[in-house]
Amino acid sequence: MIPRLSKGMNLSKPCKTCGREFKWRKKWEDNWDEVQYCSKQCSSRKPNKVDKQIESKILGLLVERSADTTICPSEAARIVFGEDHFNQYMERTRQAARRLVHQGEIFILQKGKRIDPTQFKGPIRLKKS
Ligand SMILES: [Zn+2]
Repeated sequence: MIPRLSKGMNLSKPCKTCGREFKWRKKWEDNWDEVQYCSKQCSSRKPNKVDKQIESKILGLLVERSADTTICPSEAARIVFGEDHFNQYMERTRQAARRLVHQGEIFILQKGKRIDPTQFKGPIRLKKS
C-alpha cells in the first residue's frame, strides 16, 4: 500500500514553550507557518519573564566561565529559584535549555557529546555554542 502523501508530512519545528520538536499534522494544513506550540498545554504556558530569566542565567553562567566549560542546568535553576525550590523547576529549566539550543546559543551534551535537544533522558550538561 502506498501511503497517502500530505503536503507537510515530513515537516517539523521546535515548540516555543517546551523546545521539543513536533511534527506537522493535518489539522495545521492551512496555518502550519503560524503554529508555534506543540500542544494546548504549551500554548497556554508560553514562556514568561521567569523563563527568560532562566535562559539568561544559563547564558550568563556560561559566559562567566571559560569557553570550554559546561554547566549543569541545575546550577542556573538554583540561582533563579533558590536552593529549597529549584528541584521542582528542573523541567522548566530543561525547556529553557532546549529553547536556547534552537536559538543557536548553546549545545546540550551528554557524556561529552552533542545530543538531539528534543529527546534526551538523564543528566545533561550545557555548553556555549
Ligand atoms: Zn511544547
